[in-house]
Amino acid sequence: MTTTIAHWAAGEPFAGTSDRYADVTNPATGEVTGRVALASAEDAAHVIAAADAAASAWGRTSLARRTQVVFAFRELLNARKDELAALITAEHGKVHSDALGEIARGQEVVEFACGISHLLKGGQSPQVSTGIDVHSRREPLGVVGIISPFNFPAMVPMWFFPVAIAAGNAVVLKPSEKDPSASLWLAALWKEAGLPDGVFTVLQGDKVAVDALLESPVVQAISFVGSTPIAEYVYETASRHGKRVQALGGAKNHMVVLPDADLDIAADAAVNAGYGSAGERCMAVSVLVAVGEVADDLVARIADRTRTILVGDGSAEAGAEREADMGPLVTKAHRDKVASFIDSGEQAGAKVVVDGRDVAARGAAGGFYLGPTLFDHVTPEMEVYREEIFGPVLSVVRVDTYDEAVALINANQYGNGTAIFTNDGGAARRFESDVTVGMIGVNVPVPVPVAYYSFGGWKKSLFGDTHAHGVEGVHFFTRGKVVTSRWIDPANRPTGGLELGFPRND
Ligand code: NAD
Repeated sequence: MTTTIAHWAAGEPFAGTSDRYADVTNPATGEVTGRVALASAEDAAHVIAAADAAASAWGRTSLARRTQVVFAFRELLNARKDELAALITAEHGKVHSDALGEIARGQEVVEFACGISHLLKGGQSPQVSTGIDVHSRREPLGVVGIISPFNFPAMVPMWFFPVAIAAGNAVVLKPSEKDPSASLWLAALWKEAGLPDGVFTVLQGDKVAVDALLESPVVQAISFVGSTPIAEYVYETASRHGKRVQALGGAKNHMVVLPDADLDIAADAAVNAGYGSAGERCMAVSVLVAVGEVADDLVARIADRTRTILVGDGSAEAGAEREADMGPLVTKAHRDKVASFIDSGEQAGAKVVVDGRDVAARGAAGGFYLGPTLFDHVTPEMEVYREEIFGPVLSVVRVDTYDEAVALINANQYGNGTAIFTNDGGAARRFESDVTVGMIGVNVPVPVPVAYYSFGGWKKSLFGDTHAHGVEGVHFFTRGKVVTSRWIDPANRPTGGLELGFPRND
């Protein structure tokens, strides 16, 4: 049975008037399970108008009340996260425990937003000039748009909307059309938490919906996460329309292993970070840089571990006895594209140590399965090194020195995450300042910052200058004002008089 997945406008689903739809599939079976509405420009205008109608009253609602609603949302989310995880697995394919992990990291941002009052405090300076006081305040922007990718249908929207809503904005979320159901579940949860209708809305669709958000004069800011070409397009288009933009793009994350590293810990980390969520993570490790003599030993240990990975249907029911380690890829087209990268690497001369193309998956024959693949002797000219594959493919590049490893990372067009594995504190400390990358792990392979720090890469991994959540997120979703005031002291009335010169403080 297929269901129709609608938009969400003023506190309820909105079917829209467009006759365009996209199929939504269960990647574990290959079956079409739903069809998602693809908004027309008119549908987009309707949803944006619902948000606009709610924004002003929400922005004026007391901070106490706003944070109470965010807190209620957190409690409901925590109590019902299994439902959301099941929805994610059914449309994205990641295994149930991994879906719960994504929700937990999103929930951390909700928890951060519960304490936003501390970060919305302004400054105050009395008597900056005789009889004059100054204070600053931060105000919400109004309506803000969030455009998210398929790989984290709950966590990536939650990098932004808890902070945006707590700060007093109304949100239009445009989820990926590949796994759109999580967004509606979250919208219904907000309603249950007591959020006024229209403050959280969902616009389903493709480029038409995105362009409507980028061009709308009502929308004040855009938070985008997705591939680099679209991030660049979103940044340029939304900026041209006068909006504040943060557009997070693709990645190619390198993990460097120095000769003194603990090789068992490094091998575990490479496998977990390379193949977790079938490599469909923007912080996945896709290149392992083996420095000096460690390569043979390290590759052997990674290969041994990789061969034990169980690929299969990631739903809780299918995993009742033993959960699969890795689920299918999101669509057949994406699975086939990743498989073609493996062909390309082999043809270019990389050594296929573990081949995922012939995986025996525990799941339906129609599922979009591809096993973990390990390449050795990859070189920087090869397509498998240059392109973001976004699948379970780990490439080992061998270098002789630390300096060569750093040069490789810094020459890469992306700068999202990187990690170094070593027991040498001096080398790790130097690495922190040497690399042109936004998020760095020291013996930590997926260094996603906690919610009260900010998430974002460098170079082609981020267009704009503000990272997600943390203090930067609060600044992104608010605008500052500075008020200079003079209240007349009746006991000490100034003489007044005309003075056309530029005001000076004394
Ligand atoms: P995508 O760029 O295809 O889609 C992202 C969003 O843009 C979706 O909502 C989609 O509907 C929309 N979109 C797609 N094509 C468009 C077009 N031509 N015009 C306007 N909008 C369009 O990305 P994806 O495949 O959903 O997600 C995977 C990508 O996201 C990877 O490149 C990954 O690295 C990246 N990603 C980055 C981060 C990060 O933090 N930097 C996090 C997660 C994912």
